[in-house]
Amino acid sequence: MALRKNANAVNSALTSVYGRRSRRINSDPLDTLVETILSQNTSDLNSHRAFGRLKERYPDWGLLLDADPLEVASVIRSGGLADIKARRIVGALNRVMEEAGSLKLGFLSKMPKREATEWLLSIDGVGPKTAAIVLLFSFGKPVFPVDTHVHRVSGRLGLLSPRATREGAQQELEALVPEEEYYSMHLNLIEHGRRRCRAMNPLCDVCEISRLCTYHRTSVMAQP
Ligand code: SF4
Repeated sequence: MALRKNANAVNSALTSVYGRRSRRINSDPLDTLVETILSQNTSDLNSHRAFGRLKERYPDWGLLLDADPLEVASVIRSGGLADIKARRIVGALNRVMEEAGSLKLGFLSKMPKREATEWLLSIDGVGPKTAAIVLLFSFGKPVFPVDTHVHRVSGRLGLLSPRATREGAQQELEALVPEEEYYSMHLNLIEHGRRRCRAMNPLCDVCEISRLCTYHRTSVMAQP
């Protein structure tokens, strides 16, 4: 109960700093899937650039079904891990085609969250974060994606159990935060992770929510 209260207080404080994010449904869930695969282990800038190039070269995802992964990799080189991501993207699109008979993920909208998650996880290269992003951003399903920023910041704030994995963190945050807040809090935790709560040398001295932070209380304030 106390933890839920803390999570709400953190969410309110983040909202005061960064504003409330309104969910914009991505019209093409397949775009979200491809873009999220491209975003794995790289910066937003690099992955957006790679996505733009991919769209330019293959304006219709159907053109990728029989594409040579080596050629796809050369198009998305700027996104990092290009060979792996090219194979994953081509494989994911083929899997969708086999399963749905078309390049559409709309059938996931009718599935319960757990079933839709399992289906996405059955695609090679799709992990819990990618599945959660597709389900939240494109279908508005109640899932709380946990990337490296969300994991680190919510851990430091004391919202997670000490050794929570990313998967565990997702379950814990989903239990603490009201569903209608998932989208906004997810984005604001990421923003806070970039601006203040960096992996190395977090800027606790200027952090607007330090009063709510366990790390600050136990590590920074406790220093002699
Ligand atoms: S006080 Fe420091 S550790 Fe805590 S949320 Fe702010 S920047 Fe992160």
